[in-house]
Amino acid sequence: MSKQLDLQLKDIDKKTDRLVEIDSLMPLSAPYDKEGMEPDFVKVKDAWKEKYCTSLDGIIGVDTLVRPSTPEEDKFVHKFINGLAKLFADSNKNFLQPLTLTMEYCVKCNTCSEACHIYKSTNQNELYRPIFRSEVLRKIYKKYFTRGGKLLGKFVGADIDINWETIARLGELAYRCNLCRRCAQTCPLGLDNGMLTREIRKIFSQELGIAPTFLHSKGSVRQLETGSSTGITKAALLDNLEFMEEDIEEKTGRKIKIPIDKKSADILLTHNTGEFMAWPENPAAFAILFEEAGLNWTLSSSMMGYDNVNYGIWYDDNMAQKIALQQFQAAKELGVRRIVIGECGHAHKAAAISADRMTYGENKVPVESCLPILWELVRTKRLTFNPAKNNFPVTLHDPCNVVRQMGIVQPQRNIIKTICPGFREMTPHGVDNYCCGGGSGFAIMQSLNFADFRNKVSTRVKFDQILRAFGDDVGNRDIVKYVCAPCSNCKGAIRDMLAYYQATDKFNIHYGGLVELMVNALSTIDKPYLTFTDELMP
Ligand code: SF4
Ligand code: SF4
Repeated sequence: MSKQLDLQLKDIDKKTDRLVEIDSLMPLSAPYDKEGMEPDFVKVKDAWKEKYCTSLDGIIGVDTLVRPSTPEEDKFVHKFINGLAKLFADSNKNFLQPLTLTMEYCVKCNTCSEACHIYKSTNQNELYRPIFRSEVLRKIYKKYFTRGGKLLGKFVGADIDINWETIARLGELAYRCNLCRRCAQTCPLGLDNGMLTREIRKIFSQELGIAPTFLHSKGSVRQLETGSSTGITKAALLDNLEFMEEDIEEKTGRKIKIPIDKKSADILLTHNTGEFMAWPENPAAFAILFEEAGLNWTLSSSMMGYDNVNYGIWYDDNMAQKIALQQFQAAKELGVRRIVIGECGHAHKAAAISADRMTYGENKVPVESCLPILWELVRTKRLTFNPAKNNFPVTLHDPCNVVRQMGIVQPQRNIIKTICPGFREMTPHGVDNYCCGGGSGFAIMQSLNFADFRNKVSTRVKFDQILRAFGDDVGNRDIVKYVCAPCSNCKGAIRDMLAYYQATDKFNIHYGGLVELMVNALSTIDKPYLTFTDELMP
């Protein structure tokens, strides 16, 4: 096993149990700067080593990447190489140009490394340098597809053995990146290692039929079969909305009828259905605000109309396109003027950017983010607030897909500054903010020991940002502290992170969406909408 700083690119084919150990992690700020404040990594089991690819870093992200029998190994490699060729074919039209540029023009300046939170979390572990996986792909490409590589091999950098272990390690490595594209933002040449990582995931899914269970069979496939990635059916959704109406009445005294399948409404509001299950107070808060502002809106209960997630954008173009088309179709059937995406970052990007490039003409429906609409309601005083009701420290997480990818930076800040007197920014923030660590599917990938990678490595920088944002208040257990994360996926990662570090139980740090904070401060509702546990650990 190499020391994490000594790892060489050509080690990717090395016959060893483990390429690197994650044996060094970035220290956390107070009060997590002492020994014993976080659990150790779960030990890799022998049975896992036999079945999965544990020879990268001991983490298993791709639980369907199962070691084949020896005669099947060659077929596996062959299929991968076929898939690689397809990435460079005209049919890969949306990605061909940025992929080719990224493959050909990198000058190895490493500016991107300093931008990557995973590289930073692991104290500069070579394996997680953003260009490490790109370089491995370049070597494979050179070996099979360039004249120089075929003739001169190692003399021109095509110096690795391509076998099951090499390719499987690359597949695992494609799931050690959040696709947050913070690295791409800093590259002086505009090259995009996040996009390239997704292209590797595509080969695995589209050519080899390999993708993490929670993204594919329990994600995209389930969504296409049942209408929702969570498996919530139409009947369950309708039940859920009825409970939500009762809950709203109990909490606020308001009797609200949530509009469903209203024809020709101005807005079809779509949520990540994870909200209905894990955080129903979020869609309920949207209903309260939209009704109070008198918007002409509806939810949909039709197949593919009530879940805005599209996990395909993390790993598979075909799945992404199928889902996007059916979501647009559901909106068209209702005859709405526009789709408005609730607090889900990847759904923003999937519907507003990716779907726009995957669908054509009549299939399209205009898509907007909820955030500028909410700010407009605040700015024009269609909603009025008593900020004193949010009298606790609040910090704001910037979901990568909303902020860095779509440039929606100010509306959510303007709202928070209006309704939260204790607001403080994270450092850095806005387009420079770091990923929550749950991006690209990590928040929902729960197989085997992958949660360890998320909680200890990919969310580490975010956790540290949260601790630093609350400054002196962080250790004061009497003060409620709120991390506002206007994205379902980010909330999932932050929920798990706070539980892993027992930060709610020990230090009164909570998390939630933006609309909940808005309803909590509405001047027309007397009771608090947000309630916080008052039982802390001794
Ligand atoms: S910043 Fe750009 S050019 Fe420099 S190493 Fe990274 S990808 Fe290559
Ligand atoms: S996309 Fe994000 S996680 Fe992936 S290499 Fe770049 S900075 Fe790191």
